[in-house]
Amino acid sequence: MGAARPQDTLEALRSWQLALRAQFPIIAADPGSAYLDSAATSQKPQAVLDAVQGYLTRSNANVGRGSYPWANATTALVERARERVKEFLGDPRPDRSSTHFTSGATEGLRSVARDWLAELLVDGDEIVVPFADHEANLAPWREVAELLARRGVGIRVRELPRQAGSGDYDPVALAAAVGPRTRFVAATHVHHVYGSDMNVHRIREVVGPGVPICLDAAQSVGHLPLSVAELDVDFVVFSGHKALALPGSGAIWSRGARGPAFRPGGWAGTPNTVGIVSLAAALDWLDAAGTERIEAWTVALAALLTDGLSGLDAYEVLGCRSSLTARSEVQRRRSIVAFRHREISSGDLGFILHSHGFMVRSDSHCQAGAKESDGSVRVSLHVHNTREEIEKLLATLASLQ
Ligand code: PMP
Repeated sequence: MGAARPQDTLEALRSWQLALRAQFPIIAADPGSAYLDSAATSQKPQAVLDAVQGYLTRSNANVGRGSYPWANATTALVERARERVKEFLGDPRPDRSSTHFTSGATEGLRSVARDWLAELLVDGDEIVVPFADHEANLAPWREVAELLARRGVGIRVRELPRQAGSGDYDPVALAAAVGPRTRFVAATHVHHVYGSDMNVHRIREVVGPGVPICLDAAQSVGHLPLSVAELDVDFVVFSGHKALALPGSGAIWSRGARGPAFRPGGWAGTPNTVGIVSLAAALDWLDAAGTERIEAWTVALAALLTDGLSGLDAYEVLGCRSSLTARSEVQRRRSIVAFRHREISSGDLGFILHSHGFMVRSDSHCQAGAKESDGSVRVSLHVHNTREEIEKLLATLASLQ
């Protein structure tokens, strides 16, 4: 499906998509607006809202702390959600992995850093981390190095190198950056500004079989089929609220094959059971809708937008130009398109677009190391978005040339 023309893909999936769009109450209630900010947070289908309502009105109790029916039901829901995450991620050995619930990707990445990586590293070790991805996937690793430095343990934090222009990681330069003391690599699955799939399977090829890799999957879970077996990573961290579940939910999937088992430190307290219930419901909904189709639909919309923008001289698209075939080795775009107008500031352009009913984000998007001047307008899509929304957006952008 990935190699088809975007228009053909959109035509073939039209009735499937219409039925799904109708399941988002917030979208149905405001047909004049276009929500184009799913990378910031996603909208929720009715099934997720129903699961939350059903839980709170039928079996709300604390988890693992009682033996009456509601407490047992809550514990069962949370345990089922753990297995659901593994299943959703295509985990071939769920008996050897674990799922921990968090408030989101930021807390998840920090927990991997603080509770696992800090225990693993010894003086002289090196870690390789992305310097131009989301700040949430840089700050925790730097904090570990600082913490260990205060204890007299010297860690070298190296930059995961990128190719100029595309924003993709550079496997050739990475080969030069890894050595016998490389103990850990942090990477991002889909870039939150460039929208690029970062081809993380090439990182495994370069670093070899022994180095643990932690994947920030905040922008891929819910958008495409994800297989930990294929990716061969050790941690997958994501936010529930970007994957159609409630804010304050998220998960860390981990397997202890390369290093000690991951055990978050300290007393856990009461988890966000409502968030966890919503996450399991969201994953059920996504699987039923079909993540391959969601990927095909949103990639086709993104291609329509990048193709349209490349015909408008006033605009510059960030990252790779077009969405190439899903399995190709070259850079490919997922469901995010960031761009700039050559004369209108991104802040002003965002404001103009809002006044036309397009909900986009316009700033530097929490990108590590970004300055205000690096700002752009970001359009990020999900399955409820339509071809008509993109065509209307392109017409509005064309009128601003
Ligand atoms: N990583 C990436 C790639 C993201 O896009 C985001 C959110 N924009 C995060 C991490 C942090 O997610 P959260 O704010 O849900 O913790």
